[in-house]
Amino acid sequence: MTNAAPVVLAGPSGTGKTTLARGLVASSPRYCFAVSATTRPPRPGEVDGVDYHFVERARFLEMVDRGEFAEWAEVHGELYGTPRVEIETAAREGRRVVLDIDVQGARQIRKAYPDATLIFVLPPSVPEMLRRLRGRGTEDHGRVARRLRSALAELRAAEWFDYVVVNDDLQRCLDEVRRIVEEGVAPTRSVTPEELEHFRAEVARVLETEYQEV
Ligand code: ADP
Ligand code: 5GP
Repeated sequence: MTNAAPVVLAGPSGTGKTTLARGLVASSPRYCFAVSATTRPPRPGEVDGVDYHFVERARFLEMVDRGEFAEWAEVHGELYGTPRVEIETAAREGRRVVLDIDVQGARQIRKAYPDATLIFVLPPSVPEMLRRLRGRGTEDHGRVARRLRSALAELRAAEWFDYVVVNDDLQRCLDEVRRIVEEGVAPTRSVTPEELEHFRAEVARVLETEYQEV
């Protein structure tokens, strides 16, 4: 694989981006995962330097000032960024770096690396997205609400991504992502703007009915 451009997986929280990114990286040594820096606290089981570089806000802002990030953004009230060195090391090693980032970061990567492959990940339905988000057991009611509010904006960004995939069955979706990255094959199941709008409306309805007090 000579193409060293980053692969970006973005989409609403709870769709399975991290699971897909990890699956892609585990499938072949040709891929590696870009470990982001974040100010959010670790979840149980997350390891510093493996899942994220967990840093204090002051340290993060210092890294911003020094131009150490290829992209960074505030997401759900915390700061997240991809250290430049993660992308540079991957390029030096001839590996394709996989970024699990939000849509603001994806936009910055598109500018800095025009050859990047941008893949938007959708869950099969809003109830399934909620099941995954709640089932992960890492966010309380308020944090789930915040992630759903972000999802409304994230879903609008799907239209400028190179590809949109639906993470229904994990193995099927992973195969699809690999075909996109390795062969540039478009997913068999394309998502229409109407379906995306319907999805947004459904998220908005859940926010109004189940999270209005948050
Ligand atoms: P994201 O990174 O998009 O927030 P995660 O990768 O953390 O999402 O996945 C959220 C939850 O959904 C996790 O518990 C994960 O194990 C589960 N999950 C991911 N993909 C699937 C899938 N295709 N089918 C069922 N559960 C999934
Ligand atoms: P989580 O807290 O669930 O791990 O991630 C929250 C959101 O931040 C997800 O949309 C995830 O993709 C995004 N994210 C993780 N790392 C980065 C990063 O380095 N840059 C940007 N812009 N977003 C990130």
